[in-house]
Order: sequence, then structure tokens, then C-alpha cells
Amino acid sequence: MPPSLTYTETIQTQEHAKIHTIEDTKLDPYPKLVAPQAAPREYTILYPTVVIFTYGHLAAVYGLYLACTAASWNTLIFNFIVYILAGIGVTAGSHRLWSHRAYKANTALQILIILMNSMAYQNTAFDWAKKHRLHHRYSDTDADPHNATRGFFFSHIGWLLVKRHPDVKKREHLIDLSDLYANPVVMFQKRYAFPMIIFFCFSLPTLIPVYFFGETLSLAWHINILRYVCNLHMSFFINSAAHLWGNKPYDKNIKPVQNLFVSLVAFGEGFHNYHHTYPWDYKAAELGNNKLNLSTKFIDLFAWIGWAKDLKTVPEHVSHTRIVRTGDGSDMWGHKDH
Ligand code: ZN
Ligand code: ZN
Repeated sequence: MPPSLTYTETIQTQEHAKIHTIEDTKLDPYPKLVAPQAAPREYTILYPTVVIFTYGHLAAVYGLYLACTAASWNTLIFNFIVYILAGIGVTAGSHRLWSHRAYKANTALQILIILMNSMAYQNTAFDWAKKHRLHHRYSDTDADPHNATRGFFFSHIGWLLVKRHPDVKKREHLIDLSDLYANPVVMFQKRYAFPMIIFFCFSLPTLIPVYFFGETLSLAWHINILRYVCNLHMSFFINSAAHLWGNKPYDKNIKPVQNLFVSLVAFGEGFHNYHHTYPWDYKAAELGNNKLNLSTKFIDLFAWIGWAKDLKTVPEHVSHTRIVRTGDGSDMWGHKDH
């Protein structure tokens, strides 16, 4: 046992290793990257993506104008519900279920989540989980797709507008994805990504306000684009703000932080210092059962009706031992009271 670890922590570390075997089985033959790290690089800009993102943001601004001046309350409430469903499709689906396997979901729940996830269109759940496993294995280095060492803009959105870093490309195949390849729900979405995303992210949320609330096609389209862009930024903030601004009560030696704003907009995903310390915890936070953690409440609800099971979490005494050993002395809400 390493001398700095207590017996309990060693057991917990072994558990960590066991749970993460699937992510870490392939040894990395390349030079070791130590975070925070970002070597000088030249960016190759993906101009078609820049054009699409520019259009999306201009359309979202127009959607905001229409939301304030012309939309009915029915349309606004409908879009807010779609925002929540799509967001949870990412946080409880792509993230906690398929990237980290923090709990198990039966087929019915996986189908429900993949439909919600398709409303968010953040690539397929398969692709999302692949990049996210890379992000955890190589956090804040050049092999991390949204390396926060490069600053706010790159980790927030810039990484999507340029070609992948060579260190990302060469390490992608080291990530074990066998569980995802064996998952028929995830593979169905991967196979039929185009029709599923066109239908669930763009067509359905546009046509419902047109047919049921009497909106014009233009209004319904632009407000849905606003909803979609908000869903994107909700995830982007986890990669940017939650790696840059906040406190580190669990591990002061890593870049991810606790960020209350991100937790609020991303349904509990902003307690990121905790999440990077204990990625397999289904709550993605020690403060799981609070109003900021809607994703946890969603999983709890389905555990209650028996569709979700084997919810993994960390015993309180283990995380508190860790706070004393590696934390920055602040508490989990960001107050310096230790
Ligand atoms: Zn992160
Ligand atoms: Zn994660």
C-alpha cells in the first residue's frame, strides 16, 4: 500500500481501478502527459463547422427576440420541457450511464434516454462517451479533446471548430469501447443517427408548436434552435467553466473545480472536482439529493420503479478522508471554512 493512503482509501482506489478497467485496459505506449499541459500548436480551422455554428447562434438570438415578443406561453413552456429532457438525455445518458457506467438501466429506460439524448444532438451517445472517456483519462492535456489548459474559448467551443490534436487522434484507439459496441440501444442510435437527430432534435420540437399552439414555422424553428443552442452551452460550460473557475475541496492537484452556476444550468454536473475524483458516482456530486441535481433525481425515480439499478456511489467517510488528504481546504459549496 502506498504510505500516503489509509486502508480505506486503498480499498476504494482498488475499487476505482476495477470499475475503470474497461477504460484503462489498453496501456499507453506514448510519452506520458502530465496535466496541466498544452504544447504549442497550429490550428486547422473547420470552416463548414464555423459557418453552421455562426448560423445557429444568429438564429438563436433571433429566437430569443421572438421568445420575448411573439411566442405563446405554450411554446415557451414546451421548449423549456424539451430543454430539460434533452439535457437529462446527455447528463444521465451519454455521461453517467454510457461514459461512466455509474448505474445500470434496463432496455426500456435506455430507449427512453436515447430518445431524449437525440433531442440534444451532441453527436451520438457512442461518440460522446468515447470523447468523454478520453477526457477523463487524459484530463487537461493535449490528449484531452477539450483541453482546458488552452483556456475558456478552446475548452468551451473552440475545440469543435478545429481539427483534433494529434495526441487525441493517436490515443483514441486506446479507449476500450467494447461495452458500447455490445449495447444495441447505443448502436441503434449510432447506425440511424441522421434520421433520429433530424426527427427528434429539429423536426418534432418545431412541428409540435406549429400544429398544437398555432405558431408560424419560422417562430417555432427559431425558438427550437435557441433551445438547442442552450442545450449545447449547458454541456460546453462543464468542459470550460467547471475546469477553470471554482474551488477544489476533494483534490487540489487537478484542474476541475466545483462551480455552482454550471450545476444550476447543467442539472448537477458542475460539482466537477468531485466528479473527476470519483467519476463512477451516479450522482456526479457528493450533494446528490439537492435541487441542483435534477439528473440524480431522474435516476433515483427510475431506480424507485425498478428500471435503474446498481447505483454506484462513494461512502461519505471515504470522500471526507479524501477532503482532508488532498482537498484545498474549502468545503464542497465553495466556502473557505476549514
Ligand atoms: Zn471534466
Ligand atoms: Zn465524466
